[in-house]
Amino acid sequence: MSDALKDTVQQAFNEPACATNRAKSADDRKKGCAKPLTPGAAAGGCAFDGAKITLQPIVDVAHLVHAPLACEGNAWDNRGSASSGPMIYKTGFTTDLTELDIVMGHGEKKLYRAIREIVEKHRPPAVFVYATCVTSMIGDDIEAVCKAATEAFGTPAIPVDVPGFAGSKNLGCKLGGEMMFRHVIGTQEPERTTEYDINIIGDYNLSGELWQVKPLLDKLGIRILGSLSADARYKQVAQMHRARVTMLVCAHALIGLARQLEETYGIPFFEGSFYGISDTSDALRQMCRMLVERGADAALLDRCEALIAEEEAKVRAELEPYRAKVAGKRVLLYTGGHKSWSVVSALQELGMEVVGTSVRKATENDKARVAEIMGTETHMFENMAPKEMYKTLRASGADILMSGARSQFVALKARVPWVDVNQEKHEPYAGYMGMVDLVRAIDRSVNNPMWADVRRPAPWDEARRAGGPRPMLRDRCPVSGFANDPTDFEDC
Ligand code: SF4
Repeated sequence: MSDALKDTVQQAFNEPACATNRAKSADDRKKGCAKPLTPGAAAGGCAFDGAKITLQPIVDVAHLVHAPLACEGNAWDNRGSASSGPMIYKTGFTTDLTELDIVMGHGEKKLYRAIREIVEKHRPPAVFVYATCVTSMIGDDIEAVCKAATEAFGTPAIPVDVPGFAGSKNLGCKLGGEMMFRHVIGTQEPERTTEYDINIIGDYNLSGELWQVKPLLDKLGIRILGSLSADARYKQVAQMHRARVTMLVCAHALIGLARQLEETYGIPFFEGSFYGISDTSDALRQMCRMLVERGADAALLDRCEALIAEEEAKVRAELEPYRAKVAGKRVLLYTGGHKSWSVVSALQELGMEVVGTSVRKATENDKARVAEIMGTETHMFENMAPKEMYKTLRASGADILMSGARSQFVALKARVPWVDVNQEKHEPYAGYMGMVDLVRAIDRSVNNPMWADVRRPAPWDEARRAGGPRPMLRDRCPVSGFANDPTDFEDC
């Protein structure tokens, strides 16, 4: 690892705005906050993957991966971040280095030519160049190539020097934010600014969740000036330094960026969530209060309360027909980060009982909120192996598992309904209207009539339990075509 990268990683570990980090000794702080990856077992992503996840939703930028082909194949579009316009972010650009390129030292030249080709063919506002393990280990200087390409082609080429071996995916998310702070934020001025301009950090517009919230902000006259990186444009990152307030949606990874914006440009930040009715209302209230403190008209507070009252009444009326169908159902929640508490409170609002929630990737603040909401810490757990999860589902009598796609097969094995609440999901569940979509998905899954059939013992098991013979196959076996001999089964 280069000295510059080592310094960057150390700075990321030493995050004064993170309560977990503050509570550590100086030695523990140096070790970082995530376990190092086991070589060959990087399921869940490397640091490069994390940086790509954080930055790829900047939709008008060309994302160029300087690596052999597999790194881009590993990281391409593995989340459903939606765009309201440009689609270039979905194109997989890579320098596709071969062994010959590496042996002959062609990497930097190939990178330079790739940037030129992208600029000439696609004319994006910027090209993000991602370093990876191979190109870092052979010593390609992507920063120098980006500088030369920016001067030659007049389009910013931004180095994202976060190779996979730097650490975990979570560290990569942090460093992705750091790269934006170093190279992009503050490089453009907005045409106009208002007292109602905000940044949203840590939202990725997964399956269009931002679009469930944006209409509320529009009604209040609040503008998303800066975004990292929900449906973001390059200029929304470059102009972040002119916002009045920052909302931090996923606190764990990008809290350092929010702190730097506060320290450098005087933009205060708050942590909030758009999952659940009360959390959405709280986030809107806090946003408006902070905007007023920074110069917005005080009437904004009244308009905010009126909007909350109207939206809450509307969503509660829409939820009413579902409440009886889901109330009292027991949920095992296996997600992480801020969703550990925000989804819990959303489910409790519907009268559901959360029998356990994972606090993976959650900060101490997140954990404290889970304990506050659930009234106890006993139902919090960290990582859970599939075998454990299966046992917990059976032992707790859970009616439904809400998790990411990787756990769906555990639920199916335990014959328990499942709803996807992680980043790969296809339905958005944010804001007030998202709550209706979420409860509809829960109802669809938990009350599906097929569960009665799936859970019924197979006819041969039923007969054997009763001490009777196995039921006979009639006539011929449908697979082999052999005629059945009834005497074969009588004594079984
Ligand atoms: S950056 Fe490294 S760890 Fe990540 S996909 Fe590429 S080779 Fe694998």
